[in-house]
Order: sequence, then C-alpha cells, then structure tokens
Amino acid sequence: MEQEHERGLLSVVLPAYNEEGSVPQAAKTISQVLRAADIPFELIFIDDGSRDKTWGAVEAAARQWPQVRGVRFSRNFGKEAAIFAGLAQAEGACVAVMDCDLQHPPEKLCEMYCLWQQGYQVVEGIKISRGKENPLHTFAAGRFYAIISKATGIDMSKASDFKLLDRRAVDLLLAMREKNSFFRALSSWIGFRTAQVEFEVQPRFEGKSRFSVWSLVKYAIQSVTAFSSVPLQIVTLLGMAVFFCSVCLGVWSLWQKLSGQALEGFTTVILLELLIGSILMICLGIIGYYVARIYEEIKDRPRYIVAETCKGNREESGKKGE
Ligand code: UDP
Ligand code: MG
Repeated sequence: MEQEHERGLLSVVLPAYNEEGSVPQAAKTISQVLRAADIPFELIFIDDGSRDKTWGAVEAAARQWPQVRGVRFSRNFGKEAAIFAGLAQAEGACVAVMDCDLQHPPEKLCEMYCLWQQGYQVVEGIKISRGKENPLHTFAAGRFYAIISKATGIDMSKASDFKLLDRRAVDLLLAMREKNSFFRALSSWIGFRTAQVEFEVQPRFEGKSRFSVWSLVKYAIQSVTAFSSVPLQIVTLLGMAVFFCSVCLGVWSLWQKLSGQALEGFTTVILLELLIGSILMICLGIIGYYVARIYEEIKDRPRYIVAETCKGNREESGKKGE
C-alpha cells in the first residue's frame, strides 16, 4: 500500500574531493532551488580528504547557511566511502546523493522529491547523455556497465550516483556490513518501489574530473568484484578450454608417437608452457583478488575515519572519531 508523505526533511549528501571552487556554488544553488520549492532540507558535504581548501569552504558555507553540515575524512577514502558517511549522517526522511560539481542538475531534486512524496522509495537519476568524454572512456565505461548489468540483472548503462532514497532504503544500505560496496548498483539491488528521473549530465562547474584514469580502473575492478563473481567463473571456463585443447593435442601427439614420427616440435612445447603458465598466473591473480577482498572484509576496519565535523552557523567544529 502506498502512503503519501507530507513535507519530510530532505538530506542532500555531497561528496567533495578537491572542490574548493564548487562547494560555495553548490551550497548556494541547491539551497536556492530547494527553498524556492519550499522543501525542508539539509546539505551534508563530505570532504573526502581534500588537499586544497575544500574544508575551509565547507566551514564557510556552514557559517553562511544554517542547513549546511560538513564531515571531514582523515584522508581520501574514495567517493563510495563519502556517500556512505553522508547516508550515516543524514537525518532526513529521505536522502539524495549528488555530485558537488553541479553535473547533476539541482532542479531535478524537486522532481525526485515529488516522486518520493507519491510513495516511491528509490528514485534513480538516469543519464540521457554522458556529457563530453573521450571515446576510450566511453568504451571502457560501456564494457564495465555490461558486466555490472549482468551481475545485477538490471540495466546499469545509464545509471548514476544521483539518487533519492527513502529512510527505509537508507537504513537498509547502512545495515549492510560489506565494506567494499558499490552504491550505484546496491541501491538498485535492494529493490523497493523505484521511479526514474532522466537528466542531462551538465558540464563540470570548474576544473577536471577528480578521478584519474588509474583511480577509475581501480574503482571499476573494485566495483565488479564487489558485485559479481563472473571473473571467477571465467577462470573455470578458461580451465575447461585449456583442458579441451590438451585432450586434442594429447591424442595427436600420442598418435604421432605410436606411428613412430615423434619428437621435433620443441617450439610447440615452449609455446604451450608459456601459454599455460600465463593463463594459470592470470587465474591465480583473479582468485587472489577475491581472497584479498575477503581478507579486507574480515579485518572489519571502518570504511572511513572522520577527522572533524561542522554544523550550521551556531556550533563550530567539534572533534569526533569514528
Ligand atoms: N569525489 C570524491 N572522492 C574521490 C573522487 C571524487 O568524493 O576520491 C567526488 C567529487 O568531488 C565529485 C564526485 O565525487 O563531487 C564526482 O567526481 P567527479 O566529478 O570528479 O567525477 P565524474 O563526474 O567525472 O564522474
Ligand atoms: Mg563530475
């Protein structure tokens, strides 16, 4: 049964890494939009261990806007950790996650909020265009989403981190004990009544993407292994393929030996050794990667460490550990 929500508090979570230029603008634009729509809100900036003056900008915004709160990590823990820290901090009846470079249009928040009021518990932002990107990036992203979509059974090719979640969905996500999570997929995987809102990826407010190519590759591998065991099945498939080849080759070389025309073929031996050796190593690497993930989960370290928080314009920052 769906029930209509009255005007509950909307928490907006904004991960920020080296965003000293975007933070004031994001605070201003989002506040204006939500105030104009008469939506009660709070903005939670998560400074993901920035090296520039992002934290100063967050504190300044908190002084200026009573609805702004800030959390500072002790170092860079990555966007996933920042999102989950924001979810943990949020007090709203619903929580939206968006980038603080204003690539996710703040006006869409009102549309998402309306859908939430109508009883939708998960409102997903869907990219209708990917904005400007180089073709290699588009290709890599395409492969990555193909794997993730297969693993989740949900089409993720247009998915983004721009989402609005009901309190129940947020509490569920927070209750999940896995440290190595992938918010974009996990928030679809939990199900619930889901609505979609299309948006155009805007140009970045300033600067370049905060993800380097290497950090994107790491992010992709982490997300795939967090969500799918397909790479492990590939190991089995590779094993079967090699076994099939070895049976064929075995029969052939036995026949050669029995018919007295054996030996020669030293090159074949070397090539086979190299091929099988490298396939084995790759497979061990893949398995090793999953073992490492298990090791990390079992250590049960916190997902992030909070160094400092700040709140509204009344209280100033207080030290707090996580
Ligand atoms: N971000 C973060 N930690 C990181 C990298 C990025 O919190 O280690 C934040 C960043 O500040 C931004 C959002 O994640 O608010 C998206 O990053 P970006 O715009 O650089 O990525 P893109 O839009 O190119 O995917
Ligand atoms: Mg961006």
